[in-house]
Amino acid sequence: MNILVLGAGQLARMMSLEGAPLDLNVRAYDVGTKTIVHPLTLTTFTQTLEQCIAFVDVITAEFEHIPDDVLALCCASGKFYPGKAAIKAGGDRNIEKALLDKASVPSAPYQLITEKAHFVAAAESLGLPLVIKTCQAGYDGKGQWRLKSLNQLDEIWLEMAEFLARGTADFPHTIIAEKMIPFDREVSVIGARNKQGEFAIYPVTENQHTNGVLTLSLAGFVDAAVQNQAIDAFKKLTNEMDYVGVMAIEFFDVAGQLMVNEIAPRVHNSGHWTQQGTACSQFENHLRAVAGLPLGDTQLQKPSVMINVLGQAQINSEVLRIADVKSHWYGKSQKPGRKMGHINVSATSANELANKLERLAAILPDEDYPGVKATAERLL
Ligand code: ATP
Ligand code: MG
Ligand code: MG
Repeated sequence: MNILVLGAGQLARMMSLEGAPLDLNVRAYDVGTKTIVHPLTLTTFTQTLEQCIAFVDVITAEFEHIPDDVLALCCASGKFYPGKAAIKAGGDRNIEKALLDKASVPSAPYQLITEKAHFVAAAESLGLPLVIKTCQAGYDGKGQWRLKSLNQLDEIWLEMAEFLARGTADFPHTIIAEKMIPFDREVSVIGARNKQGEFAIYPVTENQHTNGVLTLSLAGFVDAAVQNQAIDAFKKLTNEMDYVGVMAIEFFDVAGQLMVNEIAPRVHNSGHWTQQGTACSQFENHLRAVAGLPLGDTQLQKPSVMINVLGQAQINSEVLRIADVKSHWYGKSQKPGRKMGHINVSATSANELANKLERLAAILPDEDYPGVKATAERLL
């Protein structure tokens, strides 16, 4: 079976790697260069997008900011999963908030901002500090502001106004202001839903962000009460959209109560640990779901940690001396802070995992790989 993935980054690459044994062959559409490429070699196919859409059996996406014309072509083919509504909800925070409200899933209180008076009113009604987010752009914490004092309001508004002005009649820009949530921790749930409405949901992952970017995920230590809330939100949201494929939900955990931060209608960085902590990774399960194959086992086999490799030229191969440590390289050109790869580590117990993380911390400097040492200490 041939599958077209919209987007040609590491997520399409990992889908390609895990699809091959199932005879699910992935081609990727690079929206920047508007070419069909092989996700591993990035060599181009001579097919146009239209030809590739006609050629493949199934179309899916590795990101949510898909140009409208491309999305329209893919949807018209009847081969596109998870569907337009899911991509729109993932790519526009205002639509996302409406979906959360409709499905009765709690999220941070918010207000839509399209003019300065809305911003002033939001600061009054929601209170400070405020998190301000562009609705149609932004990832890894980009396209956001924090309003801590009313003194900053005019200055931040100038930048917000600039974003709003870049919108067009066809593609209007909006902004939301959210109440700053004093969370105890951030967690996420990743799961798959198939065409029959069946679910396969992974254990909830604890996530650490550094400067707005995910740096480390830990799987295997979340209690059933939190897991059940995450499963409930996952089922409500995916049923609401008749979702097919893997979806991720990021949450704030406030005293054991989950509140949604955002959803991602795709495989997700906080699910990379599933490559070795479970029998069927998120990449394989996504392909299985969209291809109409039975969903795979999502049970935790081993507690695991995923460490992001940000902006590094390579992964220190010394890490491979540690049993059950695997490095994943994305083959991208190096840029400061860019997601270049990740390292997965798993173990049969918390103690063994802590020992392996200590050994990793001795190889990986804390300033480049924050949280490795601290997670080891926490698990001991
Ligand atoms: P991603 O790369 O995950 O898509 P993003 O750019 O869409 O990131 P968010 O996930 O919305 O950004 O926010 C980035 C981080 O900022 C969150 O993980 C969280 O740490 C913090 N944050 C966002 N919204 C709030 C909020 N309302 N209250 C407190 N912290 C927040
Ligand atoms: Mg996001
Ligand atoms: Mg996020």
